[in-house]
Amino acid sequence: ADLRSEYVVRVTGTVRARPSQTENSDLPTGEIEIGADNVEILSAAEPPPFPLDERTEVDEKLRLQHRYLDLRRAPMQHNLRTRARVNSALRGAMEEQGFVEIETPMLIASTPEGARDFVVPSRLHPGNFYALPQSPQIFKQLCMVGGLDRYYQIARCLRDEDLRADRQFEFLQLDAEMSFADQEDVFECISHAVAAATEAVTGQRPTEFPRMTWREAMERFGSDKPDTRFGMELTELTPLFAETEFKVFQAPAVKGIRIPGGAAEVTRKRLDELTEDVKRWGGKGLVWMRVEEDSLNSPVAKFLTDDEVASLRFAMEAEVGDLLFIVADEWRNTTHLLGLLRLAMGRPSIDADGPLNFLWITEFPLFEELDGGKPVFMHHPFTMPHPEDLDLLDPDGGEALLDVRSLSYDLVLNGWELGSGSVRIHRPDIQSQIFTLLGIETEEAEEKFGFLLDAFRYGAPPHAGFAFGTDRLTALLVGEENIREVIAFPKTQSGADPLTKAPSPLEPKHLDELGLRLLPPAT
Ligand code: ASP
Repeated sequence: ADLRSEYVVRVTGTVRARPSQTENSDLPTGEIEIGADNVEILSAAEPPPFPLDERTEVDEKLRLQHRYLDLRRAPMQHNLRTRARVNSALRGAMEEQGFVEIETPMLIASTPEGARDFVVPSRLHPGNFYALPQSPQIFKQLCMVGGLDRYYQIARCLRDEDLRADRQFEFLQLDAEMSFADQEDVFECISHAVAAATEAVTGQRPTEFPRMTWREAMERFGSDKPDTRFGMELTELTPLFAETEFKVFQAPAVKGIRIPGGAAEVTRKRLDELTEDVKRWGGKGLVWMRVEEDSLNSPVAKFLTDDEVASLRFAMEAEVGDLLFIVADEWRNTTHLLGLLRLAMGRPSIDADGPLNFLWITEFPLFEELDGGKPVFMHHPFTMPHPEDLDLLDPDGGEALLDVRSLSYDLVLNGWELGSGSVRIHRPDIQSQIFTLLGIETEEAEEKFGFLLDAFRYGAPPHAGFAFGTDRLTALLVGEENIREVIAFPKTQSGADPLTKAPSPLEPKHLDELGLRLLPPAT
């Protein structure tokens, strides 16, 4: 009579089959019972702050505050055990392929991955700071110079950037690097590891790892991480409106997507919302058209000639009842906006039983944008430019620099970027050239990365590598959109831990020891 749920007890007795008719096939142990001779309470339990069954929706903050109880729930047990299976399969697959597990340090000088560093003040060197690794990038390259040939590690990486459902300050990635290797070698080894992890969870080994260039992905899907589980691809309309009188379509790139049967399904209110979304995403607006028998029902229909309407219907393969979205803008904006619209209109949800569409995206641009004339790297500054584009690498190259392709690649799964990698620059002369282009002046480059350039002067093998998020892979395999569901002790969206109350203030004594003084909080 004293027993309550969540009590920890020791029962001594005899395991026996349940009397017939009392078996419960919903329970893993539903066919047996214990005839108890003795029950001992090892530990009593207060009533838990939320029900521990999986059917109740519980506020995430409350769950994280009592994570040790949340972990008892069946979905968390399943997710964490799956995660361990993923990690174990990855290790096995890497080792089978001759990769050596090497740990790289946590207290380092900065490694650039384009995010903000977390820093740690040094007590012994007052006024100096360590950075926590955004990735083991530089160390793994040094391992290649060190003759280790094939390195891997399930590495903890830290990046101080805004958190989202698919992002935490600290995350784990399968990080790998190989010498005398090109892109093909990396694809083979990483696909093998990912396939092994997938098989360990689903029982089925994926065999298809197709490829697509970045340019094709943008043209067809408006995204560098296309979700290929559904169609709704972008249609090129620019040549069709080359001579148009309609001002809005007089743009460098005009493209559209077709939502089959969307004319009736998508309400006017929803269309207004989507138009607002497009503006928020950086567009000028959205042209929509409902396809009718003899005409297009659209606020802009009156600005188009009959010929234009006919060619448009033909190009878009439009059928009565379809809805068309058209965007006219610079190429990057047009593709990007339609890519977002495509997801908004057609993206299936994440489903543990659904298809797993892996896809390698190749030939990413070397630079993402120009910032005051200076190019900003897309992947990281150690990425090899595409050999065919080397002559475009002119410091005064201007916009043309944005066309320089690189030997970098991503692995995408169902529209999520799993990870990135590249063939690296292993020649100090090309590396210095890239630093100069990026505006990292020689002295700064020397101070920040001098040791890497030095290392390359002692004979560096050509090398290439990759890293992908194991939290993300696990989340997708168990059908969760939120990576916090596969991490034992994650932070909330605001970067706090409601359980341990981190981050928290330091004692003045501790600050003194570190030689730190706090400024009043910025207002
Ligand atoms: N260091 C890269 C990253 O963390 C991966 C790589 O290039 O190997 O994204």
